[in-house]
This record gives sequence, structure tokens and C-alpha cells, in this order.
Amino acid sequence: MSHVLIIGAGHAGANAAAMLRQSGFAGEVTLISEEAVLPYQRPPLSKAWLKGETSSEALALRPASFYEKSNVTLRLSSRAQAIDRAAKVVVLEGGERIAYDKLIIATGARARRLPLAGADSPSVHELRNVADADRLKAGLAAAKRIAIIGGGYIGLEVAASARALGVDVVILEREARVLARVANPLLSGFFTDYHRARGVEIRTGVEIAGFDVDGDRFNGVRLADGSLVAADCALVGVGAIPNDELARAAGLKCELGVCVDEVARTSDADIYAIGDVTWRPLPLYQRHGRLESVPNALEQARMVAADIAGKPLPAGDVPWFWSDQYDLKLQIAGLAFGDESIIVRGDPASAKFALFHLDGGVVRAVEAVNSPAEFMAAKPWILAGKAVDPQRLADVSIPIKEVAP
Ligand SMILES: Cc1cc2nc3c(=O)[nH]c(=O)nc-3n(C[C@H](O)[C@H](O)[C@H](O)COP(=O)(O)OP(=O)(O)OC[C@H]3O[C@@H](n4cnc5c(N)ncnc54)[C@H](O)[C@@H]3O)c2cc1C
Repeated sequence: MSHVLIIGAGHAGANAAAMLRQSGFAGEVTLISEEAVLPYQRPPLSKAWLKGETSSEALALRPASFYEKSNVTLRLSSRAQAIDRAAKVVVLEGGERIAYDKLIIATGARARRLPLAGADSPSVHELRNVADADRLKAGLAAAKRIAIIGGGYIGLEVAASARALGVDVVILEREARVLARVANPLLSGFFTDYHRARGVEIRTGVEIAGFDVDGDRFNGVRLADGSLVAADCALVGVGAIPNDELARAAGLKCELGVCVDEVARTSDADIYAIGDVTWRPLPLYQRHGRLESVPNALEQARMVAADIAGKPLPAGDVPWFWSDQYDLKLQIAGLAFGDESIIVRGDPASAKFALFHLDGGVVRAVEAVNSPAEFMAAKPWILAGKAVDPQRLADVSIPIKEVAP
């Protein structure tokens, strides 16, 4: 009987185990997690979990009984240290060796750190796992003001949660606008205004020199111009780095993550990689990239489970993502590269609108704020490379479903 070993029990790894069983795979499945707790969802960490609005049970991807009933061996607090491809063995910290027939690398990513003075202070937080979230939560409970380095999704979501907890927020962003790497300038402007209207101070174009720490006392963030931004604690949210070291050390092909094909196979026929750790093809956009999202982790987990179980492969999905801030639900489908024309449907002032990215009339991406119908309509258009009439698209009197029947 064959043995599938999965390293990492996040959204990708834990779901791959479940999907293997759903696909009828009857062999042995072992799921290794360096974390001490049941596999859980990460998105609530910056939202409901931080605000104390959800329980550990709700955070868990599945109850403990699931792994038992599904005959999945879940090994918590176990860190994989090396992959011996010749022997088809994974070596755990401590020396234990586990043989595999098929290996799935699902090690995710970690928060990028700033190599700056004071960055190791306990008042300087990062947010990747539940232990980080618990420390940040305790930090916020004792803080009047938090400085958030980086105006990306995590920074903005934590800002919204902190405001809900009554904590003052200053966001320090190096680029000229928040969400500079991931969103259209119109959307950046919208989120900037929305946060400012809720009391968040946003400073763009600022360079951080370090953190002002005096013994146990945290004073704030020191900027490159010498000035101090006073705060009681800080969060660094400046992106994530793929945990691809195991794969690199084992000689698997890597770029900005572990290289995989459409079926998430690596350069070794017996090894797959899924989730945030992968450098994957983006067939709709004729390029490769790393997608950091739950839907991507699920898509690749589904693909690998079907491949291992010998089932027909599912169709590829459109890349998509969501973010919740205050009463805003942002849903993004497709990828935009900045050279598309933008069609605005709805009025940003009403906090219900969608930005469609068109390339020669073809819908390539949508950024939808409180507009689930627009998001849902755009997904199949993007997948099919459908051309739509920009004037009809912008006309809210035409129901979205009738814009491009
Ligand atoms: C605060 C936060 C908010 C987010 N919000 C959203 C959102 O709203 N929408 C969305 O789509 N996405 C969101 N994301 C991104 C999403 O959570 C990730 O894309 C997703 O978790 C990726 O799943 P993964 O399994 O690839 O990686 P992870 O979930 O990071 O899991 C990887 C696991 O592998 C473990 N591991 C690593 N190395 C080893 C090793 N050597 N041995 C054993 N175990 C190891 C890690 O500890 C971790 O548990 C958010 C992420 C964060 C951190």
C-alpha cells in the first residue's frame, strides 16, 4: 500500500489530506506539522481572531476526530529537517526517518522580517501563525497606539481590527500608496480614505530606520529622517517569504518558491508542492508566479489529490482572493499587471463598486468591493477570456448577468 507524506498542515497540506480521502485514496496518509495545534485557518488571525470574535474550535480547519475517522496520521510539533530523495525518506528534527512513496511539500511561507535595530523587541510583532496572533492580541490589549509597518492586506486588516478594539493606528508605508504591489491606484485611494475616515493615520513614502527601544521600554518607530513615530507596539507586515529551503536543499528546481507544473508536480516525479510555497504556472496570463491565497492552496491540493488517486484532474481555477476590513468585503478575481484599462461599475463613495480590468475588451481581473454579484460574474468571463462591452459594464442599470450574456 502506498504512503503519502505531507509536510506542513496549513490550508494546503491539511486539505490535501482530506481531499486524498475524498478522492478515494486508500493508502497511508501522514500529515506533519511543526505547529502544536490542530490545523487551522489563517485568514481570521488578522480579523475575527484578533478581535476575540471566534473560538479555537471555529478556527480549526477540522475537528480532531476528523483525522482519526479519516485514518490520517497527524503528527503535531514535528518539524521536517531534510528530504532524502534517493532513499525517499523525510528526516524529522530529532533524527526520525519517515519513508514515503509520494511526498507533498506544503510548508507555506513566513513573515518577512526587517533587519533593523530593535526589530527583535517583544513589542515588534509579525503575523503568520496563531501564536503570533495571540502575542499581537495581548500587545493590542495593552496599547493605546500601534504602528503598522506596511500597508498591504495584513497591515490594513490589522488596522481595522485595532480600531475596532479602540486602539489608535498609524500605518507607515514605504511606497507612494497602500496596496501598491497588489491593487489598482483607485482601490488604494478608496482604502486610504476609508481607513482615514475611521481614524487611521496613513503615512506613505516613509523609510523606517529602526525601532526605538530603551531596555524594556518600546518608544516607537524611528524614521530615516531621524523623527520618532511614537507607539506602544508595532506590527511588521511587509510580505512573506516561501519556506522552500527543504526543497532547495534536496535539489528540487526552485525560483521564487518551489517550481511546479499545472498539476503541482515538482522536478521530482514523486514530489508535489502546493500552496504559498510554490512558484506556479498562471496559464491564463502566460507567466509564472506565487499566489498567496486560500483558494490557490485549495486548488493545488485538489489537483494533487486527484493525480495521486488516479482520478480525472479538476479544471484550473481563476486566481482569486478576498480581504475583510470594517464592513467592507473585497473580492478579487484574476490578476492585473497595470497595463489594462479600468472600467468602474458603481460608485466608490457608496462603498459598493467594482473595478474591471480590460485588456483589448477582454476581462482580465476584477476588484469588487461589497459587490459579490460582479465578482461572481467576472470569474467565468476571466476564465473564458470573454470580451465585454465597456459601456454596458459601467452601466449599473443593466444587471451584471445581462452585461455579457
Ligand atoms: C494573517 C493572515 C491573513 C490572511 N488572510 C487571507 C484572506 O483573507 N484570504 C486569503 O485568500 N488568504 C489569506 N491569507 C493567506 C492564506 O492564509 C495563505 O495563502 C494560506 O494559509 C496558504 O496555505 P499553505 O498551506 O500554503 O501555507 P500555511 O497556511 O502557511 O501552512 C504551512 C504550514 O507548514 C508548516 N511548516 C513549514 N515548514 C515546516 C517543516 N519543515 N516541517 C513541518 N511543518 C512545517 C508551517 O508551520 C505551517 O503550519 C492570510 C494569511 C495570513 C497570515
